[in-house]
Amino acid sequence: MPAHDVIVLGLGGMGSAAAAHLAARGARVLGLEKFGPVHPHGSSHGGSRITRQSYFEDPAYVPLLLRAYELYERLERDTGRRIALYCGGVMAGPPDSRTVAGALRSAERWGLPYELLDARELRRRFPTLTPADGEVGLYEARAGLLRPERTVAAHLQLATRHGADLRFEEPVIRWEPYRDGVRVHTPDDTYTAGHLVVCPGAWAPRLLADIGVPVRIERQIMYWFQPRGGTGSYAPDRHPVYIWEDAAGSQIYGFPAIDGPGGGAKVAFFREHGAPCTPETIDRTVHDHEVRAMAARLDSCLPTLPGALIKAVTCMYSTTPDEHFVIARHPAHPGHATVACGFSGHGFKFVTVVGEILADLALDGTTRHPVALFDPARFASPPA
Ligand SMILES: Cc1cc2nc3c(=O)[nH]c(=O)nc-3n(C[C@H](O)[C@H](O)[C@H](O)COP(=O)(O)OP(=O)(O)OC[C@H]3O[C@@H](n4cnc5c(N)ncnc54)[C@H](O)[C@@H]3O)c2cc1C
Repeated sequence: MPAHDVIVLGLGGMGSAAAAHLAARGARVLGLEKFGPVHPHGSSHGGSRITRQSYFEDPAYVPLLLRAYELYERLERDTGRRIALYCGGVMAGPPDSRTVAGALRSAERWGLPYELLDARELRRRFPTLTPADGEVGLYEARAGLLRPERTVAAHLQLATRHGADLRFEEPVIRWEPYRDGVRVHTPDDTYTAGHLVVCPGAWAPRLLADIGVPVRIERQIMYWFQPRGGTGSYAPDRHPVYIWEDAAGSQIYGFPAIDGPGGGAKVAFFREHGAPCTPETIDRTVHDHEVRAMAARLDSCLPTLPGALIKAVTCMYSTTPDEHFVIARHPAHPGHATVACGFSGHGFKFVTVVGEILADLALDGTTRHPVALFDPARFASPPA
């Protein structure tokens, strides 16, 4: 019998959640992570992530979001950490934009509570936002933000509490099917297990080259500005998170000032300006022209935000061609491994439910959650 039931490769957002769910179900779990616990080298750092339910990307995500919200609440209860802040959220832009029309479609389809605000009402409720006449915003009271580092720390804490063996600074070099399970090699040792769960984030193109999904790794930037006139009107009890699409279809998103008077408020482009990179070659320096481009964009919609730049930090998206996730048994080795990658810049709000799904797939081979959208077979080329 192998020494472990399941090995989890990568203990970032998804892997730490998988390890926690697997260990809580009584599986003997070994977690292997290239870096230390809760690190800034992948995709799960930067202090905040937006969460929302009126999901403009596709209404198919909504049932998963409802479960993710429940599991985030449970995670806070189980670990005593404050992870979520439901400050409300505005999806803004022209009425027919993907952001507004898509959010409205999801809200209507699933009966989610929302308010549709015209430009005047938006300016009155949220004076920092200056939409042009004709722009609208869908307001969702249950939207808000999650703390990514605390989420990862909480899942690592739970996994350990339930007996998982978590090893850091121990990268997986390669793995192969072995008997009924897998054999996994690191510089330190070789391990065997009944099953492998691969959650490699931006390292997917190398570690999952054989699943037939072209995952593109993109360099993205998060900016923290000190609002002109102070952070008062950006306080989380009066400022929502927002995603804002302009007439050309370009989206920015941002947060209230959650780190006190000196911490500024964070803002970023969504899925845009993402230069292709690899974890080894990414340019971690943020350049003046990039800061100027963001400040110029803010002038038209949040003109009081771009005061002094406090900091700017890079992060990697792992983007699939259709921007939907990949979560499934490994197509080439379905009896041996389960994969989770290609979260395309919108995965964090799902971390808890993805952990649950990965535990289902690893232990039972199936899940009650709707995951058809995430099947890697959608990229398989038709037979010649
Ligand atoms: C700038 C930015 C903004 C974002 N904003 C949002 C948002 O507002 N809302 C939202 O829902 N989502 C957002 N996302 C997306 C979300 O953060 C990601 O989808 C999510 O963090 C991906 O988690 P992951 O586990 O796949 O990757 P990671 O958390 O990076 O984990 C992968 C792990 O695998 C490890 N690893 C890799 N190779 C090996 C190996 N060989 N051996 C051992 N370990 C290995 C890595 O070290 C890493 O710890 C954003 C992402 C970025 C970058």
